[in-house]
Amino acid sequence: MPTADTIAAVATAHGRAGIGVIRVSGPSVAQICIALTGNLPTERHAKLSSFCDASGDVIDQGIAIFFPAPHSYTGEDVLEVQAHGGVAVQRMLLQRCVELGARVAEPGEFTKRAFLNDKIDLAQAESVADLIDASSADAARSARRSLTGQFSARIHGIRDSLIELRTIVEAVLDFPDEEVDLIERHQVRSKLETIRNGIAVLTESAAQGNLLREGVQVVLLGAPNVGKSSLMNQLAEEEVAIVTEVPGTTRDVLRHELVIGGVPVHVIDTAGLQESNDPVERIGVERSLQQMELADIAIEVVDATTSTAQSSNKTAFPIPVRSTNIRVINKIDLTEEHPRKESDNDVESIWLSAKTGSGIELLREKLLETIGWRQTDEIPFMARERHVDALNRALVGIDRAAKQAGRLELLAEELRLAQHALSEITGEFSADDLLGEIFSRFCIGK
Ligand code: GDP
Repeated sequence: MPTADTIAAVATAHGRAGIGVIRVSGPSVAQICIALTGNLPTERHAKLSSFCDASGDVIDQGIAIFFPAPHSYTGEDVLEVQAHGGVAVQRMLLQRCVELGARVAEPGEFTKRAFLNDKIDLAQAESVADLIDASSADAARSARRSLTGQFSARIHGIRDSLIELRTIVEAVLDFPDEEVDLIERHQVRSKLETIRNGIAVLTESAAQGNLLREGVQVVLLGAPNVGKSSLMNQLAEEEVAIVTEVPGTTRDVLRHELVIGGVPVHVIDTAGLQESNDPVERIGVERSLQQMELADIAIEVVDATTSTAQSSNKTAFPIPVRSTNIRVINKIDLTEEHPRKESDNDVESIWLSAKTGSGIELLREKLLETIGWRQTDEIPFMARERHVDALNRALVGIDRAAKQAGRLELLAEELRLAQHALSEITGEFSADDLLGEIFSRFCIGK
């Protein structure tokens, strides 16, 4: 799909750096390159070049690489200008490209062009952003795996089997007399079963990959001074929250990004949820309540030395509907109890000490178990909610198809819908607004 205009952007992060890269893509690249550097370098060869402004003064010296279409990231002519990384230098170079006919690229526009030019499919394009955004090594490995096309290849494999099955069913529909015979001869049932298994395995992997991408939202709740900040520090293995003996120290929501077993965990340590006349503290309490509604897991912390811990497993706080509640009985070093897990009325209590760290591993394990994370040797495919949703729809379609063996029109329709759901993942069918939504979340220059 040829694009009319040429785009340019600084592809490296904004700020001081040794090197900064400007990327230009589109039909005017050769002309811009000649005006900027004085010539067109040999394709895909690094060439030491001077980058000049309109009056011929040198803005900077660096490396120019020219990637002629279609062998480039976007599939169009691409120029990469590697200059010094200063803000002013990069701005002048970008400005020069704009003077020469380029327009400043929108976020994700290079990758969008790569998708539109069939260099990568939609799932791969999304994994480019996921690789850049990955907040743990496992998340990065998982995104990389999807980016190489392994996830898409598995989707295509299943889609091809579905197409083959649809061809058989459609053929039988055209020759109804041979219906039963053909269905049996072509082992439609066992083929359906194989396809179902393939989708189920992929859904499982994608759901795990989605966990790696999204992580889990955890909120720490509890009365002042029970040890919420200390617990977060212990989970984070570094000092992130202010821990003092004065109740109500935590006046606002503190966030910290942890990685537990490879999964990003977004912990929110809330203000002590007590009635207060102090307006600042009241705002803190208000925010705590808002955060609670967003959490996947609410960890309610109670103090082991108080009667609340010993006498009841009833929570003192309204736990949000969608989140799972874990109760932490903290400060067991003071009561000389052993770290342990206890289950009662669907609420798991973990006895630990945020001060000594004893029992903290039980909490880490419980968090991973609650979100359904399974540690395996296989790196999951990085996937998004929309991929998991499409896979689930395909699975439902196959299950419905299996029940329609006697009504071939319905069977054919369910297979068609399942194929459509799979094709949405790789972008064979995608609405413009979905593309807009996906690429607008990219960084500029990618
Ligand atoms: P928050 O108000 O719930 O965030 O509580 P903090 O984390 O600020 O802790 C309040 C006080 O309890 C501090 O003096 C902590 O050192 C202390 N504390 C927290 N956890 C423990 C624990 O496991 N054992 C003991 N002995 N003290 C703790």
